[in-house]
Amino acid sequence: MEDEVGVETPSTTRRRGLVAVPLPPPARWRPPAPAPPAPALCAALAAAGASLRLGEPLGRHTSFRIGGPADVFVEVASVSELAGVLRACAEHGAAVFFLGGGTNLLVSDRGARGVVVKLGRAFDFIEWQLAGETPRLRVGAAVPFKRLVLRTVAQGLAGLEFGEGIPGTIGGGLLMNAGAFGGEIGRTVDAIEAVTERGDRVVLPRERLGFAYRRLELPMRAVVTAVQLRLERGEPAALRARLLAAKARRDRMQPRGHPNAGSIFKNPPGAPAGELLEAVGLKGARLGNAMVSMRHANFIVNLGGARASDVKALMDLATRVVRQRLGVELEPEVRLVGEW
Ligand SMILES: Cc1cc2nc3c(=O)[nH]c(=O)nc-3n(C[C@H](O)[C@H](O)[C@H](O)COP(=O)(O)OP(=O)(O)OC[C@H]3O[C@@H](n4cnc5c(N)ncnc54)[C@H](O)[C@@H]3O)c2cc1C
Repeated sequence: MEDEVGVETPSTTRRRGLVAVPLPPPARWRPPAPAPPAPALCAALAAAGASLRLGEPLGRHTSFRIGGPADVFVEVASVSELAGVLRACAEHGAAVFFLGGGTNLLVSDRGARGVVVKLGRAFDFIEWQLAGETPRLRVGAAVPFKRLVLRTVAQGLAGLEFGEGIPGTIGGGLLMNAGAFGGEIGRTVDAIEAVTERGDRVVLPRERLGFAYRRLELPMRAVVTAVQLRLERGEPAALRARLLAAKARRDRMQPRGHPNAGSIFKNPPGAPAGELLEAVGLKGARLGNAMVSMRHANFIVNLGGARASDVKALMDLATRVVRQRLGVELEPEVRLVGEW
């Protein structure tokens, strides 16, 4: 049985008298050194105007506080700089990962090879067009989702209240089609502005965007730089009440105090993933310093110094146990990044 492989859970410990495996202190473990990037690639990135950081620990950029080094980490200051960086990566055959707020990611302990691109402050803007019948917004991809929600509600605009408390950026929120309590960001989108992998600027109208449950299919691989949204006018008191209701529900359900990446698995048809994981006794299951939250079984929390490999092993265990006992296939919501 899977839960006899040394994983400690309160329920299995009680049932079978399993003994918790002693854990090595996290301080003994060090992330491996990154691979040195090709000098020609670095020169091309610098020529594009980018300032590079080599071996940047990605744990600094994820809500899980987990993740090894990126070979090259670039924060871009403008759309033209972004285009130049992507062109340089394409010309040198370098793998590229687009990083948002890092709140839906499990980055490998070995980190990410190639170039990790993050949008800088120039992509943090909101333009309001409130004069016409339909309120429209143009929002930079680096704007924090939470801030956009609060600002739109303050303006008496309806459509994003569900997003109270969803961390991360608008860019990441679009790629994940972030949602909660029956709402999803995709429903409010008119068009997306992006830069393709080859460095071309494109505007993608709604018809070319495939929004699905926690997923957006773009017609090509691209970095989202901004989004055009269409909202509705709402009654401010009702909007604020919806916001507070969403906050109260989130406060009741979600773990606090330990780094995490939100829901680990998507909800399969039929039942929330958290209910299934709780039903098979995985609440409190622990590997190293990664633990299935006692508060919500679809969250894995980092108790301090957890390794990505421990989180991944817990995810694999949960997938196997739920498949074997309940015949349900869980699909990760959290995205795995880097070398595994
Ligand atoms: C406490 C907590 C609660 C959460 N609650 C919810 C919730 O209620 N509902 C929900 O849907 N999610 C929730 N999440 C998950 C997460 O916050 C969302 O998925 C969020 O929208 C991810 O945004 P991000 O900027 O952090 O993206 P990241 O995690 O950085 O990236 C996610 C994906 O988007 C891609 N990406 C990011 N930015 C861009 C860009 N500009 N262009 C192209 N690709 C890009 C990345 O490559 C990656 O594939 C929660 C997370 C936490 C930690």
